[in-house]
Amino acid sequence: MSSASTTPQPESGSAARRYDPLDTEQRWQSHWQSLDLDRTPEPKEGQKAFYALSMFPYPSGSLHMGHVRNYVITDVIARAQRMRGDAVLHPMGWDAFGLPAENAAIERGIDPAVWTDRNIAQMKDQLARLGLSIDWTREQATCHEDYYRWTQWLFLELHDGGLAYQKEAQVNWDPIDQTVLANEQVDADGKSWRSGAVVEQRLLRQWFLKITDYADALLDDLKLLKGWPERVRTMQANWIGRSQGAEIRFALKHPPANAATDQSEIKVFTTRPDTLFGASYVVLAPEHPLVDAITTAEHRDQVTAFRDLMASLSTEERTADDQPKRGIPIGAEVVNPVNGETLPVWIADYVLADYGTGAVMGVPAHDQRDFLFARRHELPLRVVIQVPGADEHLNDGQAWTEPGVLIHSGDFDGLPSDQAKQAITAKGEAEGWAEAKVQFRLRDWLISRQRYWGCPIPIIHCDSCGAVPVPREQLPVALPKDVDLSGRGGSPLAQLDEWANVPCPCCGKAAKRETDTMDTFMCSSWYFLRFADPHNTDKPFTSEAIQRWLPVQQYVGGIEHAILHLLYARFFTKALRDRGLLTIDEPFERLLTQGMVQGVTYRNPRTGRYVAPALVSDEGDPRDPDDGGVLEVLFEKMSKSKHNGVAPADVIDRYGADTARMFILFKAPPEKDLEWDDADVEGQFRFLQRLWRLVESVATEGSARVSLAGKTSFSVDPDSLSDDDKTVRRAVHTAIAEVSDDLSGDFQFNTAISELMKLSNALNGNLEQLSATVREEAVSVLIRLLAPFAPHLAEEFWHRLQGEGSVHLQPWPEHDSSALVQDTIELVIQVKGKVRGSLQAPADADKATLEALALSSDVAAKWLEGQPPKRVIVVPGKLVNLVP
Ligand SMILES: [Zn+2]
Repeated sequence: MSSASTTPQPESGSAARRYDPLDTEQRWQSHWQSLDLDRTPEPKEGQKAFYALSMFPYPSGSLHMGHVRNYVITDVIARAQRMRGDAVLHPMGWDAFGLPAENAAIERGIDPAVWTDRNIAQMKDQLARLGLSIDWTREQATCHEDYYRWTQWLFLELHDGGLAYQKEAQVNWDPIDQTVLANEQVDADGKSWRSGAVVEQRLLRQWFLKITDYADALLDDLKLLKGWPERVRTMQANWIGRSQGAEIRFALKHPPANAATDQSEIKVFTTRPDTLFGASYVVLAPEHPLVDAITTAEHRDQVTAFRDLMASLSTEERTADDQPKRGIPIGAEVVNPVNGETLPVWIADYVLADYGTGAVMGVPAHDQRDFLFARRHELPLRVVIQVPGADEHLNDGQAWTEPGVLIHSGDFDGLPSDQAKQAITAKGEAEGWAEAKVQFRLRDWLISRQRYWGCPIPIIHCDSCGAVPVPREQLPVALPKDVDLSGRGGSPLAQLDEWANVPCPCCGKAAKRETDTMDTFMCSSWYFLRFADPHNTDKPFTSEAIQRWLPVQQYVGGIEHAILHLLYARFFTKALRDRGLLTIDEPFERLLTQGMVQGVTYRNPRTGRYVAPALVSDEGDPRDPDDGGVLEVLFEKMSKSKHNGVAPADVIDRYGADTARMFILFKAPPEKDLEWDDADVEGQFRFLQRLWRLVESVATEGSARVSLAGKTSFSVDPDSLSDDDKTVRRAVHTAIAEVSDDLSGDFQFNTAISELMKLSNALNGNLEQLSATVREEAVSVLIRLLAPFAPHLAEEFWHRLQGEGSVHLQPWPEHDSSALVQDTIELVIQVKGKVRGSLQAPADADKATLEALALSSDVAAKWLEGQPPKRVIVVPGKLVNLVP
């Protein structure tokens, strides 16, 4: 099919047309589709592969402005790279398992699969209107069997590699509905969203991934990620939380009878062995296995009551900073190995069993948490690090947590903290009570979910053989269909005997499927790999496909994923590398975390209620229609509950997608929050209309007519250029240089659009005076620079001026640095340091020439009155100062 018969040519003729965004956008969207314009090409020999990826959405059913901003940013980058000659992969998919679909099923009886697919279809329609250059042939949905088959396959890889294991962990238990609840299903008061029952904590055997095996690598390799925001790298580093310190063993004064070594001492980890002389008590987690063995008879009842209380609280409730630190002594005592002192043993809320050794030494003078605990429970406080300017006392109720010089520390007095840490640890190592250690804050990743709408864990439990992997050729373990989801009576899959009861793959005896499903973060930890090889039916992907496309050159998404998703994806990549499935070390070379989209928000400061803008009167101060009180006007993240959302479809209906894109890109730098402003949307619409009129004027008028037919490069003879030609060429090539720079590395789309505005101003009204080549070059460049930002309009312009092929397949313009050189400068003339005038001077003139020019100027004639100046100061390229 020739392009002439398929390209929706704008009507020719002399009559100027009006800008109709909806008509323009629909025409080009369907044309691009018919051309298959956005299909990913195979990189040619020597061509760079560029993978641009937006974090894929959860298919809630409706697109919001946060999505729009994310995808438009990625689209501009993808389009610009394609014009720069790269083979671009720009895919999209759906993070489609998870709780909302299951809740919809429980509340309204809708099949989660049907609900999800319907939402995907809706969102795809909404996305299509934005004119995104997405290759939909690579689309993935994590809830479809042809995807989750491979999630299961990869789980088995991790299992084979010893990275998946089971252990007991706490879950939220609803005692009325007899079911496990996700954290999101527990309300702020700790009650079930559905039954209203107070949620209990229960221990359940669950699946974990050993991400802690990669703690060092995940931390160390952060330094490779130079294209990531510093803030995100810091958040990851803090989350991993590597700390250098020592494990110190405190022997029990009265160990239980016949106790093994680990029953006769308490191990604590500390990053501050230099404060060991300041320890005044030792605290165990209430769940610590030693507690039962060493609690004395007189404390037993209180200890039992305290542990019951702790079991009813979540980790967050237990360790919240604003909570008083609760704890009780258990009667046992230990010996401080460094000085032989006897210390009491306590249990307390702020020590967690699964963190470190589940025990800490209390040093109230030099740890703020210990300080608060000791003050509340009247435990002794010993200053062992000198507090500057306060002798041996602490300042106003604060622990002194800085390093310093040791006091009251025996032989170690006078040592600075860093030396004392080593010296005390070395003494302990020599005497057998200490060991230098590294500890991480990072925990293993609990992936079990007792829910239906997730990827089934492909394991079969056999009484004889244990946890047996489902043979890979039997994958996927498909989710059963037509399940009655009531939200009651335990894990949904566990209730399906027909599905759960299967023979053991090893011995053939009756066995039971694993009925937990996977955390949805599992599904999103490898989707970027599948996009590189989306239709592979033998493997999740080939190593060659990963080598070709990965790492993702530019990943774009919200800061809310700065920790978990990105950490899990990095862990998967490293673990799969070590399984020999791929050869990259890191999945995402560059990361852009876009800011929020905020809407104007009306809030009643007396009631805290948000008021919909439509209900707020236009006149005078905004007032609450209910109580007549004046409302606060704020910008907050768009949300239904705040009535401050702007629906993407409404904006597109009114102005078109190109205006919406331009506004979002222009209003704020991509990583900053963006305040929605209708007036600025209108401003961008007017700018696009101005461009429309500019292009119409050269499409129709005789003397300034531009045709881009057959024109891909523009060579000019510098000697033949008029001053107007030179001025316009300078504007054109400045715009190329600036916009290209703004689209590289640190993306500054807002300043790129400012450059486009400057260029359009430089051309407006000047085109007729230009030579034909300069005029054509100027218009061609303007359209190509506009293409990534306003793709429909740029395509319309391109074809309106008889450009060949799609504008999106044209080469990105290169700037000609000789065009940027200014021939003349404005030379300022000062008299005694005061500006008195200026003149045009050759840009390359030397000092003597500039002085001569200044002396012969009208300014000199007027202010020097014929007398030669006493002194002349020349600043080349800038000014001449005449001092009479
Ligand atoms: Zn078996």
